Amino acid sequence: MAESNNLKFDKDKHIRFFTRTLQVLPSRYEVLDSNRLTIAFFAVSGLDVLNSLNKLSSSTKKEIIDWIYSLQVVPDKHGSNKRKCGFRGSTTNGVTTHKDIKVAEVAHTFDSGHIAMTYTGLACLIILGDDLSRVDKTACLEGLKALQLKDGSFESTLDGSENDMRFIYCASCICTMLDDFSPINESLAVSYIKKSKSYDGGFGQGPGQESHGGSTYCAISSLLLLNQLHNAFSQKEIMRLQRWCLNRQKSGFHGRPHKDDDTCYSFWIGASLKLIGSLELCDWHENEQYIISTQDSVIGGFGKWPQSHPDALHGYMGLCGLSMMGMHNLSPINPALNITQRASDHMFSLHRTWHEEKLKNQSPTLTDAMGTHFGTTVMAFVIGLGAVFLPWIYSNFSGSE
Ligand SMILES: [Zn+2]
Repeated sequence: MAESNNLKFDKDKHIRFFTRTLQVLPSRYEVLDSNRLTIAFFAVSGLDVLNSLNKLSSSTKKEIIDWIYSLQVVPDKHGSNKRKCGFRGSTTNGVTTHKDIKVAEVAHTFDSGHIAMTYTGLACLIILGDDLSRVDKTACLEGLKALQLKDGSFESTLDGSENDMRFIYCASCICTMLDDFSPINESLAVSYIKKSKSYDGGFGQGPGQESHGGSTYCAISSLLLLNQLHNAFSQKEIMRLQRWCLNRQKSGFHGRPHKDDDTCYSFWIGASLKLIGSLELCDWHENEQYIISTQDSVIGGFGKWPQSHPDALHGYMGLCGLSMMGMHNLSPINPALNITQRASDHMFSLHRTWHEEKLKNQSPTLTDAMGTHFGTTVMAFVIGLGAVFLPWIYSNFSGSE
């Protein structure tokens, strides 16, 4: 159990907490079986924030990568399930055994990707240094596009689910990671986000709903990833949002007025403040003290409250909260994507490679076209020159004779 009077950040125990999370989980995690990929994300990214991915051997990383690819829902021979493609959360829901072949023999009626699993699956692959070459990007994006509803929000699976701000955020992350925003109707998504802004300056999960730290983060990050934050809101509205976020701090942060502080909101609210350039306005020391008061001094990790059991989500979010304040030599994070800056740099280098490959594939045509055009121009120029100068040369030479 966490001891509130133990305020020493115990990095080694956190490393063991996340490496253990990848191997074995307490029985209470059974209910999260269908979200297993997200738990893996917290552990893998947690190790990354701790600058300790090297604690996983190359073969372990490869096993995790292969496992994630086994969760990819790929199109069947007839493409009948393309609108359901993406990543599943667990092999319980289905498994893709073809490691390199991107076509399933038979698509199960109820087998489909889940938008949050697609986001965390792609994030894990990027964190582990994979090049995403086995991701069926076209199918993934088609599966994503099918999930946007008429009001601009996204649902999590095609078979029906809740639809709210969380899944607009996942969609924005997936498009960022795959470097293709074509599946999102941006004006509809931005309109949904704008309508979800509450009277108090924060954001609810949808229009008319109570402002909440998690949905506020999802709204701000989505707008930032869609490059629409400053188009969507005036500076005055951003200032109201800043005030709402700053009012969420007692010692750590809480998600709604009159709720207790909770470790994860050091990320949800902290990252919202960071994205609008206002994190320095909160009390960092108090926030750090609160996060560390929820640290488990025996097995590592953070709980939501002091004395509560640690779990993967709060363990990870606690680290991210500390990282954003530049504490304990943690790896800096990209607050919009919720992965380390190192991992997002790898993602952008992949995008550059894809862009170069695309240009290279286009270049023979371009070169040919340019070559043909250039050749035609040169030929016309030579013929023109000949037409002008040959008679002159001829006449001059004839004259001199
Ligand atoms: Zn929480």
